[in-house]
Amino acid sequence: MSKVNILPPDVISKIAAGEVIERPASAVKELIENALDAETKNIEIHLNEAGKTLIHIKDTGTGIEKDDIEKIFLRHATSKIKNLDDLNAIQSLGFRGEALYSIAAISDVTLKSKTKGNDSGWAIHLRGGEKIDFKPVTMNNGTEVAIQELFFNTPARRKFLKSNTTELNQILNIIIPYVLFHYDCRFLVKHQNKELLDLKPTSSRKTRIAATLHLDEKYLLETVHSDENQQITVHMILGDINIKRPQKDIQFVCVNGRPVQSKSITFHMNQVYQLIFPPHTYPFFAVKINLPTPNIDVNIHPTKREVKIKNEYQLTSVLRQMCETALMTSGQPLQATKGQSDRATSENLVEKAIVSTRASELSFETPITEEAVGVATPPFYDPYAFPQKTQRPPEAGQPSAETQQTFFPAQKENLQAKLARARFIGSFINKFLLFESDKSLLVIDQHAAQERIAFEKFMEQMESGHIEVQNLLSPILIKLSPQEIMAFEEAKEKLEQIGLSSTMFDGETLALHSYPILLKNPEPAVRYLLSGESIAHCDHATIARRACRSSVMAGDYLNKEKAEFQRDQLMRCRDPFTCPHGRPTVIEMSEKFLDKQFLRT
Ligand code: ADP
Ligand code: MG
Repeated sequence: MSKVNILPPDVISKIAAGEVIERPASAVKELIENALDAETKNIEIHLNEAGKTLIHIKDTGTGIEKDDIEKIFLRHATSKIKNLDDLNAIQSLGFRGEALYSIAAISDVTLKSKTKGNDSGWAIHLRGGEKIDFKPVTMNNGTEVAIQELFFNTPARRKFLKSNTTELNQILNIIIPYVLFHYDCRFLVKHQNKELLDLKPTSSRKTRIAATLHLDEKYLLETVHSDENQQITVHMILGDINIKRPQKDIQFVCVNGRPVQSKSITFHMNQVYQLIFPPHTYPFFAVKINLPTPNIDVNIHPTKREVKIKNEYQLTSVLRQMCETALMTSGQPLQATKGQSDRATSENLVEKAIVSTRASELSFETPITEEAVGVATPPFYDPYAFPQKTQRPPEAGQPSAETQQTFFPAQKENLQAKLARARFIGSFINKFLLFESDKSLLVIDQHAAQERIAFEKFMEQMESGHIEVQNLLSPILIKLSPQEIMAFEEAKEKLEQIGLSSTMFDGETLALHSYPILLKNPEPAVRYLLSGESIAHCDHATIARRACRSSVMAGDYLNKEKAEFQRDQLMRCRDPFTCPHGRPTVIEMSEKFLDKQFLRT
């Protein structure tokens, strides 16, 4: 019996229409959603050339009736909703009836399907939206879709596609959240016949997550909240303090079975983690939320990537509470990993040099109280601090020369000279180094300065081909995500060249045998180098910037000698007054400026 109908005009007019298929990953997304809507427990995906030449998806779901097979390629043909009321209570992933129509229009597509009650299946072949063939086939229950030659008739779109690595990465980014949240379904993904993922159905979310992302299950916490009156359930799997990443690349949110991006939920979750995480490190979490359909609107985004949640504020406060309680009451203590214990023998530049000099600890010469330092607003953020000379505070990432000019109206040479003879007077919250010089207070951002120093040294070493490396007796083992594994294949040689000698230890673990001494934290550096554009094609500056981004940590206490050594190192840099990302490393507060703040004339 036919189930598919064309939506009536009043519903069509309410649908947030948009470009559905912009790249192979968007086609994959639509086909996975269709398979899950058909209640499949098994999805197999075969790709060639990152989906550009073949996307083949097979499911064991309900199948499609013969009478519907031609209909489903019409625009707004769907079995999932019928009228406006349904549009406000969507239970399925799809509902617009546009995906197959859009896919058929721009590719060569064959769909085969068989339902339980029928002996034979039916196959339809369309090219550029035109039907070419329709015939019976022998097959098992379920549906198979093969998309070939995506964008064959839209050359502009095709030209816009990125490299296979990038497109494949996008596809994995799309697939993985479904794999994590639909843990009762098997997912097999192959690219050019090579297996990328094979996840069997599991009875627990935790197991599925650990197996997919290569995380250690003992570092995962689970917490559930259920409010029967409001029909809200929240299920969280949280990484504890032992899973830290330099980016927010393993954070997932799912609302009513739909993986979504929610800036607000992600923000609140990360904020809770800040209670226990060092700066610039991010946790793993997978938050699964179920809400009554009237509380959410899934019809606000063309690719359904975002949803609108009613009373989101209430929900986020529940999430924060759950997360905080779980982190505070359970979770493993921080484990000393190979990488961390190795650090003792492979100090960064600053520490290394200090070891060879006098080790006497010198105390503050002038006690500095928090208040005395805290009141001064750094002029960088205060456009009124230097009214006639400063037009606007420079933004992070702006060219350094400009920053210096606007920022140090007193001339750069002057600052350089002042910094050279400055006297260290203390350290503020292990983040800022305070120096006194003539009638100025000079404040060095410890982290920014260290990053600048490491960046220039690393550039220098890369260019001269002599990278100082720390060889490891036993390798640092780093579990990679499926995306990182893919990136590794392309980046391997380059990593070797820059002193990060590594091999794949097993299918999912990278073994690091050496790393540049300049990189204090090799694990995040490796992850940065494996993310984004492949480093195989990057210049030295980009590589150095990415590698050094996490090479230093704010928060180490520096005594007088270390602080002065850092100052000296900084002054030897070619571009000492900005970090590699364009932020200032040093600011100057003159006596005059401070007087003004205190309304002294
Ligand atoms: P939508 O998912 O929004 O309904 P689609 O164009 O993706 O629109 O699919 C149209 C219809 O085709 C669906 O409503 C469904 O009835 C049918 N269909 C598509 N794929 C499958 C599948 N894998 N299994 C069963 N039915 C499917
Ligand atoms: Mg669909």
